[in-house]
Amino acid sequence: TGFVDLRNVRLSYGASADATLALDGLTMAVKKGEFAAVVGPSGCGKSTLMKLATGLMTPQQGTVEVAGKEVAGPVSIAGMAFQNPSMLPWRTTLQNVMLPLEIVQPHRARLSRERDAYVRKAEDLLAVVGLKGFGAKFPWQLSGGMQQRANLCRALVHDPALLMLDEPFGALDAFTREELWQVMRDLHAEKGFTTILVTHDLREAVFLADRVFVMSARPGKVIVEREIDFPRPRP
Ligand code: ADP
Ligand code: ADP
Repeated sequence: TGFVDLRNVRLSYGASADATLALDGLTMAVKKGEFAAVVGPSGCGKSTLMKLATGLMTPQQGTVEVAGKEVAGPVSIAGMAFQNPSMLPWRTTLQNVMLPLEIVQPHRARLSRERDAYVRKAEDLLAVVGLKGFGAKFPWQLSGGMQQRANLCRALVHDPALLMLDEPFGALDAFTREELWQVMRDLHAEKGFTTILVTHDLREAVFLADRVFVMSARPGKVIVEREIDFPRPRP
C-alpha cells in the first residue's frame, strides 16, 4: 500500500449506451515521499487519474485512498498545477500564488501576522523559480513561461503533502523546461512531499521520477511500472 493508492479502478464518462470507458482495472501505488511519473498516449486517462487522486471524481468501481483514507471529495492536502497556467487576471502574481492559503486556511489568512508569513513564503517560492521581484506584476505582464513558474509556486505555497502536476512543463521552451526540472527536483528533495507528474515526455519522467508508470491506450491501466534506481541521465 502507498500514500496514494488506486486499486482496480474503473471509470467511464457518460451514459451507458455511448459511455467512454476511460480507465479499467487501473492499480497504482505511490509511496510517501516518492516522485512518481505517469506516461502514456493521449487519451489513456492520465487526467482522469489526476482527478480521481485529488477527489474531483469518484470511480464507479475500485478504491482510491490518499494518506490511508478513502477519498471522498476534494483532497485538501493536494497542490495542483496544469499545462495551461490559469491565473486570476485581476490579481497580482503574489496574490495568485497566495490563493491556496486563502482557500485552505481562510481564517488564518485574514490575520495580519499569519498573512505576513504567507507573503514571505510566496515571495521565497517566487525567488526559487526565478521570479524574484515579479510578485507585484499582473499575469498579463508575464511571459507564458513566467506564468507557468508562478503556477508551480501556487501549487506549493500551502506545503501540500501531495503535489499533482499535469504536464506543467509541456508548453515551455527547452531551456526553461530543464531549468524548472532542476527546481522541481531540488524542491522535492528538500521538502519531501509526494509527487505525481503526468507527462508525455519519457525523458522528463526518467529525469525527475523515482518511479515511472506507463499506461496503455484506452481503456487506461498501468502496463509497466519501473523504479528508477540507476544513475539518472543528465537532461
Ligand atoms: P489523457 O489525460 O491521458 O489524455 P483523459 O483522462 O483526459 O486522458 O481522457 C481519457 C478518455 O476519457 C479519453 O478517451 C477522453 O476522450 C475521455 N474523456 C475525458 N473527459 C471526458 C468527459 N468529460 N466526457 C467524456 N469523455 C471524456
Ligand atoms: P519564458 O522563457 O519564461 O517564456 P520569455 O522568453 O518570454 O520567457 O522572456 C525571456 C525573459 O525576459 C524572461 O525570463 C524575463 O526575464 C524577461 N521578461 C519577460 N517578460 C517580462 C516582463 N513583462 N517584464 C520584465 N521582464 C520580462
